[in-house]
Amino acid sequence: MQFKSYWHDTAPRFAGGSAGPVEGHYDVAVIGAGFTGLSAALHLAKSGVRVIVVEGGTVGAGASGRNGGHLNNGIAHGYASAKAHLGAERAKQLYKTYDDAVDSIERIVREEGIDCNFRRAGKLKLASKPGHVAAIRSNFELVHAEVDPDTAFLSREDLRAEIGSDAFHGAMLSKKSGMMHMGRFVVGLAEAAVRHGAAIYENAVVSERRVEDGRSRIVTSRGTVTAQTVLLATGAYTTEGFSHFRRRIIPVGSFLLATRPLTPDEIARTLPGNRTYVTSMNIGNYFRLAPDGRLIFGGRARFSTTSDQTSDARSGDILRASLKQFFPHLADIEIDYCWGGLVDMTQDRFPRAGFADGMWFAMGYSGHGAQMSVEMGLILADAILGRENRNPVDGLDWPTIAGYSGKPWFLPMVGLYYKMLDKIR
Ligand SMILES: Cc1cc2nc3c(=O)[nH]c(=O)nc-3n(C[C@H](O)[C@H](O)[C@H](O)COP(=O)(O)OP(=O)(O)OC[C@H]3O[C@@H](n4cnc5c(N)ncnc54)[C@H](O)[C@@H]3O)c2cc1C
Repeated sequence: MQFKSYWHDTAPRFAGGSAGPVEGHYDVAVIGAGFTGLSAALHLAKSGVRVIVVEGGTVGAGASGRNGGHLNNGIAHGYASAKAHLGAERAKQLYKTYDDAVDSIERIVREEGIDCNFRRAGKLKLASKPGHVAAIRSNFELVHAEVDPDTAFLSREDLRAEIGSDAFHGAMLSKKSGMMHMGRFVVGLAEAAVRHGAAIYENAVVSERRVEDGRSRIVTSRGTVTAQTVLLATGAYTTEGFSHFRRRIIPVGSFLLATRPLTPDEIARTLPGNRTYVTSMNIGNYFRLAPDGRLIFGGRARFSTTSDQTSDARSGDILRASLKQFFPHLADIEIDYCWGGLVDMTQDRFPRAGFADGMWFAMGYSGHGAQMSVEMGLILADAILGRENRNPVDGLDWPTIAGYSGKPWFLPMVGLYYKMLDKIR
C-alpha cells in the first residue's frame, strides 16, 4: 500500500513552472495553486492581466489533489438549512452557483482540452438509517420544487440497480452532479493558465505580505514580488502569516482509500450505477469508482487535526471497517493507496469569499469545494476585473471563533459530539 494520493500518483507532473527567482511586478499575485487560485489565474490571464501564482508546494499539493473526486451540485448539508441560515434568496443563489460550478468545469475541460475523465455521473445521497429516509425525502421535495428539477427520490427497492449493498434505505439522486480525475484536472488547469500567460512558481512559500508605496510586497522562499492586487487561495493550508483567515478557518482531516482495480464482475456487484455516493451520517462516507475501476472510499473517519502517514493509516483502518460493512464481498480486497488531506471548514459550513485584510480571498468550502473553488476563482477574477458581482456569499458575516487562532483544540470534542449524534439519530 502506498501512502500517497491516487490522484497525484496517476496524473502527469506539472512541467510549466517558472524557473529562477520570484521577482518583478505583476497586476495580480495569487497565493496558492489549488483550484481556486489556478481558476482565477486562468481567467485573469485570458483577460490580459499580468498574473503570478506562488505555491508553497507543488500544483495541487493541497486539497485539490487529495479529495474524493466528486463534483456534486446542490448544497451538501441541505437546502432547507441553507434557507434558514442564509435566507431564501441567497440560498437559491448559492444552490445555482453550485450548478454553475459544475457547468464551468465542463466548459473549461472542453475549451482547454483537459484529459481528466469528466463525466456527469449523478450523485446519490444515501440514507444510512431507516430514520434518515424522511429527511432525505423532504429535502428532495423542497429542492425539486424550488431549485432543481433534475433530482429524484429513490426507494430502497430502486437502489438495487444503483449499489450492491444492503446498508442503505433510500436516496436522493442529483442528476447534474459529476466526477473527474482531480490530479489530471489540476495539472491541466495550471498548464492552461501558463499557456494563456500566467507565471506559476512552485515551492515558493509566502511568509509575509506587506503594503509599500500602495503595492503589496510578497516575500516568498524563492524571492520577493510586488503586485497591485493579491488573491489569497490557501484554503485549509493557510499559514501563520495570514492570521485574519487562520482565526476563521478550521482545518479538519478527511481520509481516503483506493482499492486495487475491481474486475467488471466486482463493479457490477458493488457500484453498478457508477455515480458519486455520499452517506447521511454526520461522520459519514463518500465513494465512487476511479477511471481505472478502483473503489475510492473516503470519510472523515475521526475528527483529526492532522493528515500525515500515521494519522492517515489510523483513519485508513476505520475506513476499511466501513467499506467492509457496506460491501462484505470486498472484505479482503487489497488496498493500493491510503491518503488524507485537510478540509477548510467554517463554523456554519458555508464558504466565504470577498475582500478582507487588504486582499481578495475565497475559502471555507467545508468539504464541498472541488466544484465551488473553480467557480469562486472565476467569480473573484471577475470582481478584480471590475465586472459583474456574482459572489453568492458577498458580505456574509464571518466572525472569529472565540479562543481560536489556527490550532483547532476543540476538534476531538466536536468529533465525540457527532459520534454521539450518529448513535442516537
Ligand atoms: C480528503 C478530502 C476530500 C475531499 N473530497 C471532496 C469531494 O469529493 N468533493 C468536493 O467537492 N470537495 C472535496 N473536498 C474539498 C475540495 O477538495 C476543496 O474544497 C478544494 O480543493 C479547495 O481548493 P483550494 O484551491 O481553495 O485549496 P487547496 O487545493 O487546498 O489549495 C491551497 C494551496 O495553497 C498553498 N498554500 C498555503 N499556504 C501557502 C503559503 N503561505 N504560500 C504559498 N502557498 C501556500 C497550499 O500548498 C495549497 O496547494 C475534499 C477535501 C479533502 C481534503
